[in-house]
Amino acid sequence: MADTRIEESAELAAFRAEARAWLEANASPKTGVDDWSTQRHHVDQDAMREYFEQCRAWQRKLFAGGWAGISWPSEHGGRGGTSDQVRVFKEEMAAFDVTSGFLDATIAMLGAALRFCGSEDQKRHYLPRLLSAEDAWCQLFSEPGAGSDLAGLAARAVRDGDHFVVNGQKVWNSMAQFADHGFVIVRSNPDVPKHQGITFLLVDMASPGIEVRPLIQANGAGHFNEVFFEDVRIPVENVVGEIDGGWAPTRVVMMAESQFIGGGGADPVTPRLTEMARRLGLADDAGVRQELAACHTRELLLKLLSEAMMQAVRQGDDPPVSGGVLKLFTAESRVLFGNLATRLLGPAATADADPDSEWAQLALINRFSVSIGGGTNEVGRNNIGERDLGLPREPRVDKDVAWKDVPRG
Ligand SMILES: Cc1cc2nc3c(=O)[nH]c(=O)nc-3n(C[C@H](O)[C@H](O)[C@H](O)COP(=O)(O)OP(=O)(O)OC[C@H]3O[C@@H](n4cnc5c(N)ncnc54)[C@H](O)[C@@H]3O)c2cc1C
Repeated sequence: MADTRIEESAELAAFRAEARAWLEANASPKTGVDDWSTQRHHVDQDAMREYFEQCRAWQRKLFAGGWAGISWPSEHGGRGGTSDQVRVFKEEMAAFDVTSGFLDATIAMLGAALRFCGSEDQKRHYLPRLLSAEDAWCQLFSEPGAGSDLAGLAARAVRDGDHFVVNGQKVWNSMAQFADHGFVIVRSNPDVPKHQGITFLLVDMASPGIEVRPLIQANGAGHFNEVFFEDVRIPVENVVGEIDGGWAPTRVVMMAESQFIGGGGADPVTPRLTEMARRLGLADDAGVRQELAACHTRELLLKLLSEAMMQAVRQGDDPPVSGGVLKLFTAESRVLFGNLATRLLGPAATADADPDSEWAQLALINRFSVSIGGGTNEVGRNNIGERDLGLPREPRVDKDVAWKDVPRG
């Protein structure tokens, strides 16, 4: 991808050089052929566990080297750096065969919730352990009856002395089978409107009464899980924010998730697609060229928009676009990339097992994951309409109605 860097200061250039030197000493460059960081050999649970542990080992190495949580304050285990430094490190790391995988997402989500809503004790205890991957976390939000309408959730928490006793079911919980801890939202007060009776809890996944059942996908991998709670006792001190006020940290998590996904990787896909088109003799195909140009334009725009957002944050200005816009743009781009990868390879995209085909299979299978995970495109558009464009809010039949009185299927 063309270099879009604008006037890099001498200080930032020195940071870039330091980052590159550390990466060269601690990681192998990507070869584009059999990179574990992009091929994701997720063919069964053992392979997934191995991959997860590889990601965890890399996060530990980053932490030990002082490169985890670059913009986090040092008292929470971070480097106390700037958002520009975060971007630069991501750009440099993209050339190396390393990733923290899903850990990165939970660090962004739970890190934000704890920093904005956690107690001082929680920040001191959990943040460095989160950043160093000493603890691996999973997000326990969605339920069979609560996805887009997350605030309608039904997992029930009843206070019993200095514990909450939780019963219910969560679903689509990424990597919950490997996580040590989870952040879970529960219905602690059914007698008030849905957003007002939710509590946000931190739970040890080894607690008696928790059962994790992987959901095996068509390719044999089990990225997602169902998580069942039966009389699980969670200490009241594990509440993040206020009891019954869990919607506040939940919103922080959702915003951080949207920004995390929308911020995208610094690892562009178009060069790989372009190289593939050349190798397959399709570089002069008019249709392929149109699509490659569209992919390139999207990646460039996303990068520039992310940078403009970071610059605004740095200057204390309003961001030029909301995180939701970036997430939507990323989701639509992923579909384009997956479709083009399969179009380039033709039947080989599904039948062959060489690295290009494996990569294309993943790009195809996973192309809608961003369109659903972290909130669907449709709900994202509703939010953009209401929050960014000031359109009338969607009609709500459950407003001001106690959760227990809202009809449910
Ligand atoms: C890759 C991935 C990872 C995930 N990881 C996690 C995780 O770690 N933890 C977790 O808790 N959850 C996770 N999820 C679940 C995810 O948050 C939900 O799938 C998502 O919120 C949508 O909920 P749902 O699947 O119940 O769909 P539903 O809410 O049932 O939606 C079904 C359809 O109806 C549409 N729809 C719903 N409401 C509206 C509306 N008001 N206006 C217009 N259209 C609407 C939706 O857009 C969708 O097309 C993950 C999902 C994916 C794909």
